[in-house]
Amino acid sequence: MESSKPRILKATLAKIEEDAPTVYKFTLKLPVNDFRFIPGQFVMLFFDDEPNLKRSYSIASSPNVTDKIELIIGIEGKFTNKLKDQLVIGGEINVHGPFGKFNLLDDKTRPVVLLGAGTGITPLRSMAKFLLESGFPKQIYFFFSCKNKDMLLCKTEFQELRGVPKEKIVVVNAFTRLAEGETLDGEARRIDYEMVKKYVEKPAECHYYVCGSPQFAEAMISMLEENGIPKDLLHKEQW
Ligand SMILES: Cc1cc2nc3c(=O)[nH]c(=O)nc-3n(C[C@H](O)[C@H](O)[C@H](O)COP(=O)(O)OP(=O)(O)OC[C@H]3O[C@@H](n4cnc5c(N)ncnc54)[C@H](O)[C@@H]3O)c2cc1C
Repeated sequence: MESSKPRILKATLAKIEEDAPTVYKFTLKLPVNDFRFIPGQFVMLFFDDEPNLKRSYSIASSPNVTDKIELIIGIEGKFTNKLKDQLVIGGEINVHGPFGKFNLLDDKTRPVVLLGAGTGITPLRSMAKFLLESGFPKQIYFFFSCKNKDMLLCKTEFQELRGVPKEKIVVVNAFTRLAEGETLDGEARRIDYEMVKKYVEKPAECHYYVCGSPQFAEAMISMLEENGIPKDLLHKEQW
């Protein structure tokens, strides 16, 4: 799989959906239909009126769609508040990219384990979509950690993924701060190696793609290294 050369495109906002409190899914329509990227890559966004205020966002959609991208963005500070307040349906924003080396490898011989937390789900969602759409022949495991059910991103998709045969994808939601009385469809603790071993049949043979905060990503990589997973099977993005 090849990505397009990075370029600056004027995208228009086609849709905005609330995914969780303060997290929104933005669908951007591109002015071209040949925007190629490798799952895991990101784009930079900026407005014409403030070109130096640029932020990076991993592409959350499948690379099989080449005229639109979906981004899942937590509203936090300067740029994201401007994005939420200023960008209306049909409004324009500059998309610069694709960039990045956190790329899904073209290796059909090993199972894939996706480990994400918070908005770190974005590149992993793109990877999972692409692997499922392309009939990936090995097992896919998708672990997603969040505080509670309110903060579970892409809820409907996780429900749909549960309907996909287990031979294709195993989905594990790990909730770290469940409210009292909250019913559970997943695990009620942080992701640890016991949890990985419970679901992943041959952990030493898989590629691992990890994305989330620096604390989450570093904890996952240390856990995997300590348990003997070779470094060349570990892939990490963090912000
Ligand atoms: C490769 C890559 C991919 C990324 N993908 C995504 C993605 O898919 N989704 C996503 O949501 N984000 C993603 N990010 C993060 C994103 O680029 C931004 O960093 C993020 O959206 C915050 O930008 P902002 O301008 O809103 O916040 P900023 O204004 O840059 O602030 C960042 C944080 O610092 C805090 N802060 C700012 N000023 C102060 C202050 N004076 N005192 C105390 N705290 C302060 C803010 O509250 C906020 O939490 C990615 C980053 C990288 C590098």
